[in-house]
Amino acid sequence: MISTFSINNAQRLQLQPLEVPNRLLLGPGPSNAHPAVLQAMNTSPVGHLDPAFLALMDDIQALLRYIWQTENPHTIAVSGTGTAAMEATLANTVERGNVVLIGVAGYFGNRLVDMAGRYGADVRTMTKPWGQVFNLDEISTAVETHKPAILALVHGETSTGARQPLEGVGELCRKHGTLLLVDTVTSLGGVPIFLDEWGVDLAYSCSQKGLGCSPGASPFTMSSRAMEKLQKRETKVANWYLDMLLLGKYWGVERTYHHTAPINLYYGLREALRLVAEEGLENCWQRHQKNVEYLWESLESIGLKMHVEKEYRLPTLTTVCIPQGVDGKAVAKQLLLDHNIEVGGGLGELAGKVWRVGLMGFNSRPESVDKLVEALKQVLGK
Ligand SMILES: *Cc1c(COP(=O)(O)O)cnc(C)c1O
Repeated sequence: MISTFSINNAQRLQLQPLEVPNRLLLGPGPSNAHPAVLQAMNTSPVGHLDPAFLALMDDIQALLRYIWQTENPHTIAVSGTGTAAMEATLANTVERGNVVLIGVAGYFGNRLVDMAGRYGADVRTMTKPWGQVFNLDEISTAVETHKPAILALVHGETSTGARQPLEGVGELCRKHGTLLLVDTVTSLGGVPIFLDEWGVDLAYSCSQKGLGCSPGASPFTMSSRAMEKLQKRETKVANWYLDMLLLGKYWGVERTYHHTAPINLYYGLREALRLVAEEGLENCWQRHQKNVEYLWESLESIGLKMHVEKEYRLPTLTTVCIPQGVDGKAVAKQLLLDHNIEVGGGLGELAGKVWRVGLMGFNSRPESVDKLVEALKQVLGK
């Protein structure tokens, strides 16, 4: 007789169908997916080389170009979360010894530093206290000092709620033969972005924040200048899965098998992007701005303060100062368990100092603000 492990525990679990609490996700992401996106994902999969699926991939590319305001042919979705698309930008363009200059004013700047180092970059940083942004003079001085092959900036720093202005940076980079790499994970869909006008060469995002989809299919784009650097590499891209020369043959005319795309997630992403196009990009940006201003006013009306200077606040993510004497973690826990509302806590320099409130994609609605403020009033005893 072959002995087997007891399956009692597994059996017990199997007896209960999946049950998930219905939360309002007002943290740093994921945000709640739009109902139409959930419905799209609930559609039977086709093969990943089916002509219907290939047409859907073309739609995703066209919609991404619109939402990013770029004409880059090499605009795709990476099968993975935003971090995979982030890694794709560096993996394809960094060669051993390349100077990569990174603006660090929060958690995700540091992630770029770690990643670029792993691909052999000679990493240089410029830093700011968390919640602040770099001005053009500071960026210009740093670029002139380090003469980097790549300059990386985080457009929407989700750990701080700050929006990094990008006007003029691309021009500066072109003067020095530098590629401009931008993290648009928390800005795409909710914050005005003009990739081509701004001269951005590499950008990435995710599906589960401003776009209102589930996580797992992440926008990626590279300019022809970035593609040229990739084509001139002396060594192969060290990451097979994210090599754009290979991925480009799946997304391009060749349609060569590379990996099995997460079909249903791509259904969801296409629907999420279509919804933005249907609303109109500018309307979508305006909706995010209007609702976040309502959030700020409502929070101020109950005596709360925001961490970031108004001019540089993100419409998608707000850092709210935890008042003195209040246990921020306990409040967040009570919001979640008693009110089914998720907000985020602070990271790094802001740990214990702020809550992070996201109004992203489908969740950027006045009702989200009303629900949160009502719940906060109760929890804080106002
Ligand atoms: C969320 C986020 C990421 C990482 O994306 P994942 O989907 O969590 O992998 C990267 N950069 C920023 C600014 C983010 O907010």
